[in-house]
Amino acid sequence: DRQQVVNFGAGPSALPTSVLEKAAKGLLNYNDNGIGLVELSHRSKDFAKLNDDLESIIRTQLDVPSTHHILFTQGGGSGQFSSVVMNLLARHTLLHPDLKPEERVMDYIVTGSWSKKAYEEANRLAGGKAVANLVVDARRTSKDGKSFDNVPQPSEWKLSPAANTAFIYYCENETVDGVQFSDSSFPHHLLENSFNPPLVADYSSSFMSRPIPRIADHALIFAGAQKNIGPSGLTILIVRNDVLVDVDAAYKLGANPVPLTMAYKTLADSKSLYNTPPMFAMYVSLLVLQDIQAKGGLGPLEEVNRQKQAILYDVLEGYEEKGILKLKVQKGSRSWMNVTFEFVDKQVEKTFLESAESKGLKQLKGHRSVGGIRVSLYNAITEEQVKSLISVLHASLGA
Ligand code: PMP
Repeated sequence: DRQQVVNFGAGPSALPTSVLEKAAKGLLNYNDNGIGLVELSHRSKDFAKLNDDLESIIRTQLDVPSTHHILFTQGGGSGQFSSVVMNLLARHTLLHPDLKPEERVMDYIVTGSWSKKAYEEANRLAGGKAVANLVVDARRTSKDGKSFDNVPQPSEWKLSPAANTAFIYYCENETVDGVQFSDSSFPHHLLENSFNPPLVADYSSSFMSRPIPRIADHALIFAGAQKNIGPSGLTILIVRNDVLVDVDAAYKLGANPVPLTMAYKTLADSKSLYNTPPMFAMYVSLLVLQDIQAKGGLGPLEEVNRQKQAILYDVLEGYEEKGILKLKVQKGSRSWMNVTFEFVDKQVEKTFLESAESKGLKQLKGHRSVGGIRVSLYNAITEEQVKSLISVLHASLGA
């Protein structure tokens, strides 16, 4: 029974039960049509309204300026690793057609497993037309020289000359490693001096957990829905007008061709309806966002999320001082959404996981690539549930 379980999984992850119950009704009979949501045409009036409502609730809650489009597509965060490269190289080619391939760069700030993957995809897709530049690899500024455990100080960053830079890329919250630009947020002052290259951010695992600082400074923000707001299958894009470029015109100037379904301009021109969008995922996401709005919006939600991580890190720091466990990420870069640590004694770790499982606290194992424990505190997790986890932790350590 769901009532007996707390799902601390990193994604796809817990969603509010009341929302899923409502979604289950709409799956069978949407708006009293006698037709379920996934059986409607995506060109129907009902779905057009859903599309508009989802756009406007995101716009209102995140305070998205009118310079930016909000678009819905498929392909996940990983799909965007590719789309970003193709669209922004097309844009840069239109602006600077005469640059040599080695002069056209994509700047990647690598602070964890996901930005590393995005950087690798940029290298693959550059196709001899540009190069991906590693602005900083956070493993070099880590405690052990090999883990992602920090957001490096901006003084460590080696940004490329602005006019050569097709975009600057970062991942706001690194889901696997538990590293977030949390305390300070992206250092926008670095970009303020000259021509600003487009700033791109992967917000997959922190989207809608709190307001986005300086959202207007971003050329593109993308997020898969399957952490804080809904089912997988939906990818949300917040795209500034100047990123909606004619990819075919860029192709004539030497850029690589871009599939139409991945071109941001195609999505914007069709209001996200160039082809069939992920209708059910959009529906559930709308219900989740309406639920957030009914509870006061992102302001109160941010406070709850702040409190959840604060009480958990506080307890973990206490055990770290006693030498029982190690928090994986350095202070100042710790994620609010994914709390990562490991027990010094692997037998203790095993006992903790077993006792948590027996109390219905699930999906606490760290990502297979890094091991240890990962507690994901997405929106659907309550403060009370975090306290249950803390009780189980105390009990399994005999405290
Ligand atoms: N970026 C981040 C920060 C993620 O957490 C994930 C998925 N966990 C991805 C990208 C990839 O998302 P998808 O599985 O939707 O391609």
